[in-house]
Amino acid sequence: MSGFPWQSAFEIREQVASGVSAVDITRAYLARIEELNPTLSCFLTIDHEGALAAAAQVDHARDDGEELGPLAGVPIALKDNLCTRGVRTTCASKILGEYIPPYDAHVVEALRASGAVILGKTNLDEFAMGSSNENSAFGVVHNPWALGRAPGGSSGGSACATAAGLAPLALGSDTGGSVRQPGAFCGITAIKPTYGRVSRYGLVAFASSLDQIGPMARSVREAAGLLEVVAGHDRRDATSADRETGEYLAACDRGVKGLRVGVVRDLLDGLQDSDVRSGVEAALSALEKQGATLVDVSLPHAKHAVSVYYLVATAEASSNLARFDGMRYGLRVPGEDLVETYTATRARGFGPEVRRRIMLGTYALSAGYYDAFYLKAQRVRTLIRRDYDTAFERCDVVCTPTTPTPAFALGDKTGDPLQMYLADIFTLPPSLAGLPAISTPCGLSAEGLPIGLQLVAPPFEEEVLCSAGQAVEDSCGIVGSRPAALD
Ligand code: GLN
Repeated sequence: MSGFPWQSAFEIREQVASGVSAVDITRAYLARIEELNPTLSCFLTIDHEGALAAAAQVDHARDDGEELGPLAGVPIALKDNLCTRGVRTTCASKILGEYIPPYDAHVVEALRASGAVILGKTNLDEFAMGSSNENSAFGVVHNPWALGRAPGGSSGGSACATAAGLAPLALGSDTGGSVRQPGAFCGITAIKPTYGRVSRYGLVAFASSLDQIGPMARSVREAAGLLEVVAGHDRRDATSADRETGEYLAACDRGVKGLRVGVVRDLLDGLQDSDVRSGVEAALSALEKQGATLVDVSLPHAKHAVSVYYLVATAEASSNLARFDGMRYGLRVPGEDLVETYTATRARGFGPEVRRRIMLGTYALSAGYYDAFYLKAQRVRTLIRRDYDTAFERCDVVCTPTTPTPAFALGDKTGDPLQMYLADIFTLPPSLAGLPAISTPCGLSAEGLPIGLQLVAPPFEEEVLCSAGQAVEDSCGIVGSRPAALD
C-alpha cells in the first residue's frame, strides 16, 4: 500500500488488482478518519462494519479470479443526504437524526456494483441549505487548509474529507453550488452534472428542479471517472435523461486545441478579490497557451440569479419538506405510541435556516404573491438560460471564478443570511439553467488558500468540461499541494 493517504483512486484500484488487501487499505483510511475527525468533523457516521465487509468482498472476488469493477477497493465518502440501506441518513437534521433508510440511492447501488468501499456519511448544512456547513445540527466542519475557515457548503463534509486525505473520492449534491463552492474552498475538483444526467432516486430532496448529485475528488481525472460510474438513465427518477453516458475519463486527454472559452468580462472586472482575479487570469492564459481561444461573452441576467434562486429553491423546499411532519419519519421508541413520537419529532424540529426557507418559500407560493414572486422568478430563470444559449453560439465553455473570494472565516457570515447567499453568485446561474459545470483549483491565494475556477458547458457536454478542467489542472492545478493545517 504505497502513497497512503494521497494515492489516487486509480492507484488504489491498481494496487488492489495486483494483490494488495482492500481490507488493509480500508483499515488505514478508517484509522485516519478516527484520528482526524475529532478536529475536522467531516464525518457524521463512520461505517466500519459496512466498509470492511465491502472491502473483504473485493478481496475475495480478486482471489477467486473474478473481474473487478472500476472502483474495486476504492474508498469513498457520501454526503449524508444520500440514502444508504441500513446506515443512518440524517441530512444533518435533528428531524432525521435516527432515520435508517430501507433502500439505497441509485448512485449508491452503482457504487456498490463498481466495487467501491463506502467509508461513511459526511456532514452538510441541514437539508443541504447553506454555503458554509455552519447550518448542520451536528457541528461545524473545518477547512483542512485553515481550520478557522469554512469548508464551504453544503457538501462541506465531502469536500473536507477528500482534501484532508480521508477518502480519495466523495459524492455531494449540488442545488445551487453545493459541490462546486466547497470544492473551491477546499481545493478539490467537483462536477455538477447536467440536470437529469445522474439519477436523484434516493437523494433527499431539497429543490427538485435543481438538485443534482456530483462527484468530488482531488483531481479532474478521478472526478471524471467517478461521474462515469454514477451517471446514466434510471426509471425511478422521472427527470433522469435517457442518454448515453459520456467518456469523461477519455475526455481528460483530449486537450483544448480549438476550444472557444467564453470570458464574462464584466463579471471578472467586477471582482474585488485580487487573488481570485489573478487565479482566473492565469487559468485563462494557460488555456490560451494550450490552443484555446478566448472570446468575450455576456450574461446580462446573471445578476438576478441570487434573487431568482432564493425564491425558486425555497418554494420547492417548502413543498418538499412538508413530509417531515413528525408522522412519517422519526424514531419509534418501543412502547411509545405514535402521538408521542409525533410530538417528540416535532420538538426536535428544524434549525433556523431551514425554518427561514420554509417560511420564505411558503410566502412566495401563497395566493396573491405567487405571480409577483414565484412566477416572475421562473420567467427570469428562462432569461438566464437564454443568456447561456446566446453565449454558446460563440463559445464552447463559459468561464468564471467559482466563488468571489477564497474560503471565508467561520462565523463571518452567519449573522447575515443575505451575505451568505451572495457567496453563491457564480454557481447559481448554471444551476438555474440546468447546465453542467466543473470547479477545479487554479492556484492558491497569497494566504495559501485554494482558488476555484468554474467552467460551464451546454447541456450534456460534461466531456468538454473534463478536457478543459484537465488543461487547467495541468498548468495551474494544486494536486501536489497539501493542506498545511493538518501537519
Ligand atoms: N448555497 C446554496 C444554498 O444555500 C446552495 C445549496 C446547495 O447547492 N445545496 O441553497
